[in-house]
Order: sequence, then structure tokens, then C-alpha cells
Amino acid sequence: MSDFIRIKGASQHNLKNITLDIPRNQLVVITGVSGSGKSSLAFDTIYAEGQRRYVESLSTYARQFIGQMDKPDVESIEGLSPAIAIEQRSASHNPRSTVGTVTEIYDYLRLLFARIGIPHCTVCGREIRSQKIDTMVETVLNLPEKTRLIVLAPIVRGKKGEFQKEFKKLQREGYVRVRIDGEIRELEEEIRLDKKRRHDIDVVVDRLVLREGIRQRLRDSLETASALTDGLVRIDLTDGKEILFSEKYSCPICGVSLPELAPRLFSFNSPYGACPDCSGLGTRMYFDEDLVVPDPALSIREGAIAPWAGRSSMQYFSMMDALAQHYGFDLNSPFRDLPENIQNVLLYGSGEEEIQFFADRGGRRFFYNRPFEGVLTQLDRRYHESPYSNVRMDLSRYISLRECPTCLGTRLKKESLAVTVNGKNIQEVCLLSIRECMEFFSSLSLSPQEILISERILKEIKDRLTFLLDVGMDYLDLARSAGTLSGGEGQRIRLATQIGSGLVGVLYVLDEPTVGLHQRDNERLISTLKRLRDMGNTVLVVEHDQDMMLASDSIIDMGPGAGVHGGEVTFQGTPGEIMESEASLTGQYLSGRLSIPLPPSRRPLPSRFIHLEGAHEHNLKDLAIRIPVGVFTAVTGVSGSGKSTMIIETLHRVMSRQLNNRRGGMGKIRRVVDLGGIERVILINQQPIGRTPRSNPVTYTGGFSFIRDLFTGLPEARMRGYKPGRFSFNVKGGRCEACEGNGMIKIEMHFLPDVYVTCDACGGKRFNPDTLDIRYKDKNIADVLDMTVNQGLVFFENIPAIRGRLQSLFDVGLGYIRLGQSATTLSGGEAQRIKLSRELGKRANSNTLYILDEPTIGLHFADIQKLLNVLMRLVDMGNSVVVIEHNLDVIKSADYIIDLGPEGGPGGGRIMASGTPEEVAAIESCPTGRFLRAVLEAGSKESPEKKEHRR
Ligand code: ADP
Ligand code: ADP
Ligand code: ZN
Ligand code: ZN
Repeated sequence: MSDFIRIKGASQHNLKNITLDIPRNQLVVITGVSGSGKSSLAFDTIYAEGQRRYVESLSTYARQFIGQMDKPDVESIEGLSPAIAIEQRSASHNPRSTVGTVTEIYDYLRLLFARIGIPHCTVCGREIRSQKIDTMVETVLNLPEKTRLIVLAPIVRGKKGEFQKEFKKLQREGYVRVRIDGEIRELEEEIRLDKKRRHDIDVVVDRLVLREGIRQRLRDSLETASALTDGLVRIDLTDGKEILFSEKYSCPICGVSLPELAPRLFSFNSPYGACPDCSGLGTRMYFDEDLVVPDPALSIREGAIAPWAGRSSMQYFSMMDALAQHYGFDLNSPFRDLPENIQNVLLYGSGEEEIQFFADRGGRRFFYNRPFEGVLTQLDRRYHESPYSNVRMDLSRYISLRECPTCLGTRLKKESLAVTVNGKNIQEVCLLSIRECMEFFSSLSLSPQEILISERILKEIKDRLTFLLDVGMDYLDLARSAGTLSGGEGQRIRLATQIGSGLVGVLYVLDEPTVGLHQRDNERLISTLKRLRDMGNTVLVVEHDQDMMLASDSIIDMGPGAGVHGGEVTFQGTPGEIMESEASLTGQYLSGRLSIPLPPSRRPLPSRFIHLEGAHEHNLKDLAIRIPVGVFTAVTGVSGSGKSTMIIETLHRVMSRQLNNRRGGMGKIRRVVDLGGIERVILINQQPIGRTPRSNPVTYTGGFSFIRDLFTGLPEARMRGYKPGRFSFNVKGGRCEACEGNGMIKIEMHFLPDVYVTCDACGGKRFNPDTLDIRYKDKNIADVLDMTVNQGLVFFENIPAIRGRLQSLFDVGLGYIRLGQSATTLSGGEAQRIKLSRELGKRANSNTLYILDEPTIGLHFADIQKLLNVLMRLVDMGNSVVVIEHNLDVIKSADYIIDLGPEGGPGGGRIMASGTPEEVAAIESCPTGRFLRAVLEAGSKESPEKKEHRR
């Protein structure tokens, strides 16, 4: 095979018929401004073609769709290997996937526990070892010479009865004595037992004195005893001491028997291992007090109890009156002021206590006495009894998930949890952080035999843990549910898994793997990618991170602009060469000839702060959250240090609960001290702006209704009597019905992600021919949707309402995007910026707190400047902005920094520093401060032209 992937005539999306050779077995970075065509080249051309060829090699079922699967627009690609994409989008929403299962470490753990695990009795906790008869013989022979002993077979343990049948049978079989409740009796005598009492009965199998030549006899006796009891043998040493042996996995004392140790016993996806109460999910649903009484400041009359609020029937009123009368409380006092026992009765019922209720029937009052069921109890009963799914849907508003009380969230049966390796059960091992887990497995103390059995398995486990450590995941634990990982974490875990798979000759395509990673940890990630390369693979990375570019073998720079202004390769070569290049914008930033300047001045810090006390969700160590109002704040810290927990789960949820009346869970805090006069809080995240191809930038930002009005008002449309709905693809009337206005048709692939193909009826135009007859300045509605924002700005320059919306899209750097580009094709970063642009378009917008999580994702140096301008504008309008960010150009531009650390996971969750960038940079012990110091020094000492590259 050739040393290059040779691409000829690539024209997918905005690519301008490009031809290039990508060196194989190298680490190659594709960079360029946002929208320049990086993904179109890496994912939509190279990876898509690799994937298509892969599908081609699959079943005939899959092959029938190939004709419909859009072939990338490229003349030819030679030297392509099987391709694997490691994307940010988390593939798994399966609540059963955990870090352990995704990385396959859990499979090896199950094997390990099945092979060398030591079971314990689930009742008394005693260690249970299965012993072969030979082991028992050796143990006994090791006792001192002349020891007297009795070999007993315990046949009854703590059972009531007279046991006459058993005695007869033993006698017939030739046994002479039994030991009953500790006392030796002859079977010949008449034995009368109190049938109401519990008894212990052992058969005396043999009596011996230890001496030379006794081995064979001892062995026979032990075997006989074991056969009588199904594996249990007791040795009475006649000096008050005893030894118990069990040949099977059962507790010699409690008699509890354990299942055989097999990997499936440790699987929460198998009925053999899963907790029977939650079927291995680890969570159970319950009716949540906080949702049922969302605002305890209200009284019951005012609707404190949400499921009762808004009910106007007599029945409810009379029930409340009866309760108030019986317990003597006031229906008008705030719920939170009611005594705790009253609150408990209301929520959980009155127990045995009967309350006199009454009902009116035809003007006559009937009294009846009954215990009160309690609101939560009643919801639960109705939920489980109701046959109607809409009733259950309605009630589910009050449901939250919590740890399963049976397994305490461990997902496993108690029998599975009773098995340990070096003192820890499988769940305890999974709850260790990856770093601790590695330490645990590196310092196991095992017998030579156990080592022999487990060597291979341990190697697999340790290898995989090492890969996880290499990609900076030391703070995660194996039990963490995959669905709760951030995009970047999920991607790095898939990366670690790929290294573990040991494939060779593969083309890996990655999308910004540094997202969410602190500079401090970049180095390890980069060495992981190099390792993947050194194993004999080609690694193609779409990336903006400077360290990654400098570490690569080769860089492809796309540009020069975005969308129609991009789609060309402006540079290809080594990092050293790109810094020399005049043509490459990236090279100019890398070499420092261009740079993002420090803001000329910082805003003075205000006296007003948003102030929450005692934040302690996840790893947060009882923090005070203090966010200055009216400025730009950056929250920094290594991955896993608690940034999202503090800002998204706590600050945002608490504020939206207080301000927007949002219900639902939130990070734990002790007290809200001050909201700082903030009136609204808005989280601008990277979630798609819509789930269907029908959502797009112009509908989302509100521009489309003005465009529809414009078309409805045109003479031809008025003549035909068209209403705005005619130009909507959400309702019947003007849209293409074959695709219901999507322009595309979804094909479910069963084993691969869904595929969208262009609708043949409308050719992707989304509207029917009659609608397309209507034209403004010679363009129909489909043509308008196909315009870029840049084109639209010129086309609609005389229509201020439309131009205004487009201008805000342009301002966030999305001039290249098409007005009707479907939500499903937008990247997370693009979606985030579209949301930002909608906020810019709002009038009278102030006193709002905007929260953004890594807004620089997908942004090139040149784009970051634009983003900063927009954020600054929001602040200048009188708002507060908080961003979680790793990008130093953003951090250095903030007015205020809050740095979390020092580590990820349990070792984090503290505030390491807070203050202006200059103040934080002055703190020696803070890693963010160190990196910031370098940037601030570089920015202030050198003029941009002369600034040398920092390395
Ligand atoms: P980058 O990865 O450099 O940010 P992309 O390759 O995603 O850029 O986009 C290049 C251009 O192609 C942009 O103008 C973008 O709007 C457009 N584009 C991307 N995906 C699609 C698509 N599925 N359909 C139409 N246009 C697209
Ligand atoms: P950051 O945003 O700084 O990367 P996070 O706030 O996401 O950090 O995580 C802080 C800690 O809380 C980490 O130990 C992480 O594993 C833990 N954590 C985050 N989300 C969850 C969750 N849904 N369940 C359990 N632990 C979590
Ligand atoms: Zn359970
Ligand atoms: Zn159609």
C-alpha cells in the first residue's frame, strides 16, 4: 500500500475541488477557521468514504442502502484504510453503560472475581473457602501427634422437629452414634426430642487419634461425612475446639449456600448478578417531596401541595378541612412553618390514626372515619394502579430517581457483593478513582497459585487502566454511568478503549480531543495519540489547540475564510514550515505574528455579587460561590475539578429555580445569600437547536417569520390567497408532503446510525412547486433558505427586521452558514453560537446572567476574537457572563477568574484562586496561574509583530 491517502477532486459541501496527499502512519492535524471545511474533509469525505467501503463489505441487507447513502462528492480516494471515528457526541444513552463496561475493564474484573474471588456468607459475613477433601486431610494431619478427634457430619442445623425418621435411617445405614445439641447419644437408645425446639444434629462418622499411617482412614471418613451433608464436615477436637470444613460454597454456620463463582454472577446485565429490585439499574423511581411541595413558602390554601393545587372540587376542600381540624393546624400558614409531624402526615399518611372526613350528598352531610393515605403514598398507588398511560405521564411530573434502596446503587445482588479480592468487592473496586484502582491492582497480595490464575487477566486490566490514565481520566471511576460523562470525557474514554483494542493499519479520525482538558493535561493526551500512531495507524485530528499542532507530524490548514470563502487547502507541511508561511492564518498565530490582544483595560469589580453558601454537590467541598455582577467571569481548573458541578448543576439550577420557577433537581447548597439583582438566567449550551432537520438557524433566531410575511405580502401570493402557513415546512399546505418539509428522508439502519437521503419528490427543496412559484427579487423561498448569512445580509438589506436577525448571526461568526441548514448538520459549537446570536437580537436585554460551557469549541484563533467581542457586548449591555473555559486567550480577557482544583474528582472541588487575571497569575501554587502568567507576560512585553513564539 502507498505511503499516502491520495484524495482527488474533493468537493463535498464547500470544498473547492481539492486534491491532496495525506501521509499515512502519521499524526496529522487539520485546522482552519470555523466553517472552512475541516469536518467536510475529515469526516464527510475521508471518514464517510471509509465507512461506505466498510458497509459495502458487510451484509447484503446493508448493501441495499448504499445506492441511497450519499456518496461523498470526491473523484477518488486511494490508500484508504478501514476508518474509525472517535467523536465527541456520546453514543451511549444506555443507563447500563458505565466507564467500566465501555472500556471492557469490567468484563475482565468479572473474570478476575470469578477466578480468584473469595466468597463470604451473606448473613454472618464469614469468609467461605471451598475445600477439596485433600486440603481437609492435610489440615487435619498438621495437627499435633496424638490429638483425639471426632469426624462429624452436621445433618441438621437449628431446625425444629423430632427427627425420628432420620435416626431410623442412620441406624439402618450402620451408624452408631449421633451428637445432638452437643451431646453424644447412641442410636440404639430411644431418643425423644422436643419438637418445638430447634436442634443441631451431627452424625458421628469416626473417632480417631492422630498418628502415623492414618491418612487413608481419615480421608475415607471425611468423604463419608461430606457425602452425608452435601459437602459439610465438622471435626471435634474433644478439647472444646472444632474445625468446620465445607466442600461447596456454603456457610458452615448459617448454611447459606452461594452460587458458583462465574463471570455472570458479577454482571448487572444478567439476572444471575443484577439486583432483583432494580434489575441492575441501580436507581428506582420515587415520588419526590421537593416536586410535590415545590415552594414550601406557600400555604396549603395557596397550593403548596402541587398535585392538589388548582383542584376546585368540594371533595378536596373538605378533605383539607377535615385534616386541619383533626390535627389543629392552619391551612393558611406556609407549609414550611407546619410542625414536622403534620408535614409527615400530609405527605406520608396518618398511619393507623383515623380522621373524621365528611362528604356532602344532596345537601346532607355524611361522616366517615378513615386513616389518611398521604399525598406521596397516594401518588404512588395511583401511578401503579392506573391503566392509563396519560395518567402515569401526568403523575411522572412528581417523580425523581434515587439510589435503589436494596442494592444502594451498586446494581448487584448481595451474593455478588459478598465476593472479594484482597478485601474489596467488585463494586468497591469500581468506586475507586482510576488512579486508586491502578494502585490497588499494582499492590495485590496473592498466593502463587492465584498469581498463576490471574496473571493474564490482571495484565489486561492494568493495561486498560494505564490507557485511561494516559488520556487524563485519573479522577473518574469505573462505576460512573456513561450517560453522565461530558462529550470530551466520553471521547477520551473511547480513545483509551481503541488503544486497548490494539488494532493496526486503521485510520482514526478525531474531533477536537482537547476539549475540556486543561493545558496541564494536554501533554499526556498528545502522547496517547502518538502511541496510536506508533502502533501503525494513521491519526487524523481536527484541532485548534496550539500544543497539538506543534506536536503533530504534519498540518493541513483549511481556509482562507469560512463557507464559500473557504474550502481550500491554504497550507500543508510540518509545524516548523507553517510558522514560516505567509499564506496560512494559522501559521501567523502560531508564530505569534498575529495574536489576540489583551483587553485595553479591565472592568472594575463591582460591589454586587451573586452569593451562594455551602455548595457541596459531587466533589465540591462546601464552597462559597461568589460571582461578580455586571462583568465577565471565567471559571477554570483541570478536568473533573468541579467546574460544571459548580456552575451548571449548582449556580444555574439554583438561579433558574429562584428566578424562572423551574422545578427539578439541583446541586446541593446550604443557603442562597444574594442573587445580586439578577432577573434572568440563561444557559447557552451546545445541545442542538432542534432535533429534526426542520429546525435551522433562521427559524431558531426568529428571522423566518419575517421572511414568510414578506413572501405572503407579495402580489402573486396575495392573488392566490396564500397565508404565512403556505411558506412553512412545519404544517401541511405549501410544503412537500413526501418528506413533510424535511427535504430529506430518514432511513433507519438498525446497526449503524440513521442515514438521511435527499427527498426525490422535491429534490431537497422542501416545498411543493406551487409554493416555489412565488418569488421575491427573483428568488423563491427555497433559494432564500439556501443562501448563506453573508448573502442574505445583502439580499435583505432593505428589510430591517430580517437584516437585524442575520446581522446577529454574522456577529457571532456564522456568516458562512446557510439560513436553512438543518439543525442536525450543525456542530455543537455552531448551535451554541446560534443561541448566543438569538440573545444578541433581544431588545431591552439586561440584568441577565449568561452561562456558557467552553464556547471556544470548534473555534480557530481568528474566531475567538469574534466570540470575545460578542461576550463583551453582552456585558456592556448590562448583563453578567460566566464561562467555563480552558482557552487562555479567553481566560486572559476575563475581568474575574475563579479557579478550581487542585485535582479532578475527590482530590478537587476547592477554590484555588479567585480575582483578576493578574491576581490569579501571581499565585505560585495554581497551575492555571502558571499558564496565565506566561500569556500575560508575553502579551504585555512584546508588540504583536515582534512577538516570538513562546517556546
Ligand atoms: P469546519 O469543520 O471547518 O468548521 P465544515 O466542514 O463543518 O467546517 O463546514 C464547511 C462548510 O460546509 C460550512 O459552510 C458549512 O455550513 C457547510 N456544511 C457543513 N455540513 C453541511 C451539510 N450537511 N449540508 C450543507 N452544508 C454543510
Ligand atoms: P469539571 O466540569 O471541572 O470537568 P465536573 O463538575 O464535571 O468537573 O466533575 C466534578 C466531579 O464530580 C468529578 O469527580 C466527576 O466525576 C463528578 N461528577 C460529575 N458529574 C457526576 C454525575 N452525574 N454523577 C457522579 N459524579 C459526577
Ligand atoms: Zn437495586
Ligand atoms: Zn420532499
